[in-house]
Amino acid sequence: MKIAVVGSGYVGLVAAACLSEMGNTVISVDKDEKKIAGLENGILPIYEPGLDVLIERNVREKRLSFTTDTAMAVRNSSIVFIAVGTPPDEDGSADLKHVLAVAGDIGRAMDGPRIVVNKSTVPVGTAELVSEEVKKFTDFRVDVVSNPEFLKEGAAIDDFMKPDRVVIGTDDQQVAETMEELYRPFVRTNNPIYIMSNRSAELTKYVANSLLATKISFMNEIANLCDVVGADVQDIRRGIGSDTRIGPHFIFPGVGFGGSCFPKDVKALRHTSDEYGYHLDILQAVTEVNIAQKKVMGRKITREFGEDLKGRTFGIWGLSFKPNTDDMREAPAIVIINELLERGASVKAYDPEATDYARTILGDRIEYSSTCYDAIEGADALVLVTEWTEFREPDFDRIGKLLRTRTIFDGRNIWNPSSLRKKGFVYYGIGRGDL
Ligand code: NAD
Repeated sequence: MKIAVVGSGYVGLVAAACLSEMGNTVISVDKDEKKIAGLENGILPIYEPGLDVLIERNVREKRLSFTTDTAMAVRNSSIVFIAVGTPPDEDGSADLKHVLAVAGDIGRAMDGPRIVVNKSTVPVGTAELVSEEVKKFTDFRVDVVSNPEFLKEGAAIDDFMKPDRVVIGTDDQQVAETMEELYRPFVRTNNPIYIMSNRSAELTKYVANSLLATKISFMNEIANLCDVVGADVQDIRRGIGSDTRIGPHFIFPGVGFGGSCFPKDVKALRHTSDEYGYHLDILQAVTEVNIAQKKVMGRKITREFGEDLKGRTFGIWGLSFKPNTDDMREAPAIVIINELLERGASVKAYDPEATDYARTILGDRIEYSSTCYDAIEGADALVLVTEWTEFREPDFDRIGKLLRTRTIFDGRNIWNPSSLRKKGFVYYGIGRGDL
């Protein structure tokens, strides 16, 4: 099939690469000229494991190309994906200006009927708005499909190539069949393709992300309870996770959830429900707990070192909002580092991939180290924020020698408190009874 994917970010670029890998001819579009010029020269705008190999191969095989020219891409495709950002507006609702701008571009460019597939995360009713917007500029038939994306940054290629499920929102049988044909190669292990209404498809994405965020906020609250009652949340997690009704996944406490999706999608779903006069109060709590959780590490640090951190240095391990991505959007590291800086501390940080992105947010207010050990040399404490695999089994004897005081804040509970205490470290985790 001939496909255009408008938006070449974390979702659009992965979608374009994976669709071309299956043999489709794909044009990946972005309005960002620098991004497209880079991609044309083999420079990827994001870090995502495996994406470089996929792009290189499909460009070489001439199945994948890049452009800033949406009209050209639309004219050369029968299916046009929209994969642009839907950032939160001031009131928490999803801002649809990019999605509708692309819809207008598509309408203006159409020289025949098209299927327009909305992959951006959008509120209930957006398919109708996109359809109206396209039709302002063309009399050709347009079918708008809602096809939310469930990939996880850091495992995006695998998730796209082997999705747990594909959700297709359309009420047209022919369009449903075309979409099933497009996705059949991705579900060879018989994972389901669910055909439903546009509205149900749009809502499915928000419900999935909101439930995942709810699980995290719930466990973070339980972790805070563990701290005050002197229990270990790691034991609680194991104890509840083996109940098949609960399951072991996504119940790990930490320093709060970040990223471009959970925080904004929780707010947007709440906004939608408010608009319809039904109030999802639980989601207000999820957001508030998350904002508070990003401050838990700061509280533990001031408990150990006092409110005034002038003259102190902290070595931060991990900046991205989770491992295996360079994405810093809403990353807990930003909140933790800002608090340390406001209290007068100096910060040295190491992240395997997110340093460039971090510089755009934190600038030269912190020092960026090229190894994790450099980041803690002469520091008062090590603060682990993101659990990259390279941090799992570090050389604690070396860490002990590099640190000014043997103090560790483990924001992801990846280390063993009792063995670290035996080595003479002061250890703080999340919900391990150490408040
Ligand atoms: P992103 O910011 O990484 O990429 C969006 C791209 O769209 C940018 O490169 C931008 O320049 C481009 N763009 C914006 N307006 C344009 C226009 N008019 N014409 C052409 N290009 C345009 O965003 P993302 O993380 O890929 O997210 C895209 C959508 O997918 C969002 O709705 C998001 O909620 C959803 N989503 C994201 C993830 C994720 O993990 N990042 C997962 C599932 C769903």
